[in-house]
Amino acid sequence: AVDASVVSLNPGTDQFQALVILYDVTYLRRIEQMQMDFVGNVSHELKTPVTSITGFAETLLNGAKDNPETLTQFLQIIYDESRRLTQLITDILALSRSESGTTHVRSFNVLELVNQTLGSLDQTVQAKKLQVTVTVDPNLTLKSDSVKVSQIVRNLLNNAVFYNRDGGQVTVHAEMLAGQFRLSVQDTGIGIETDEQQRIFERFYRVDKARSRNNGGTGLGLAIVAELVRSLDGSVSVSSQLGVGTTFTVTLPLSD
Ligand code: ADP
Repeated sequence: AVDASVVSLNPGTDQFQALVILYDVTYLRRIEQMQMDFVGNVSHELKTPVTSITGFAETLLNGAKDNPETLTQFLQIIYDESRRLTQLITDILALSRSESGTTHVRSFNVLELVNQTLGSLDQTVQAKKLQVTVTVDPNLTLKSDSVKVSQIVRNLLNNAVFYNRDGGQVTVHAEMLAGQFRLSVQDTGIGIETDEQQRIFERFYRVDKARSRNNGGTGLGLAIVAELVRSLDGSVSVSSQLGVGTTFTVTLPLSD
């Protein structure tokens, strides 16, 4: 679709000169539609935990609090839903930051960055008795936006841990290959069906809503990864086998 704007250059004079601006609006409309869909999705996703918190708090106030068992059970739900709300807000902010132009480009040690991220997952790694292997040259440095790369690694590692089986493995590998930086996160988890593999990068998309929700997932982790990778002119791919495991690979161009 093409829109035309006519601007009179000499308003109020006999002389009529006009500048005709033609531009393709299909692209703009699509962006507008995507933004509207996103706002709709965000509102829906935020409303769900809020509705639940309000409902359970109201029931408690109306007398259910007098039963100690119900009190504990409902407070737990309110607590879980509040945490979920916090996670959603954190992820939505991360997504909006990933679209902003702010950059933190510096040279950093890749192994240090991976180890820092792993540290924050220590509890879950231990609880699930996972074996984590990091194969990164201790001298490997990358010049890139460290905040963005760190968020990419964090989201991929979070998933590799959450969707893993007890006693499973997580392998993080990074190297320079053919003039590019390549990082892969491999797990021995539940895997992702071929049909789902393209959709998982969509905002709010979750393969199994019920299960993902129990894990505190928001469906935004991979959308954030995709957006960050795109902003760094890189690419992200997934290869997975159901019941065997999944590998995400991120490739970034080297900046001078
Ligand atoms: P979530 O917050 O639900 O984890 P993500 O955007 O990070 O959202 O992932 C989208 C969906 O992709 C998840 O709900 C999950 O079903 C699937 N997924 C992501 N990473 C993995 C993985 N490593 N193994 C299996 N499934 C995964």
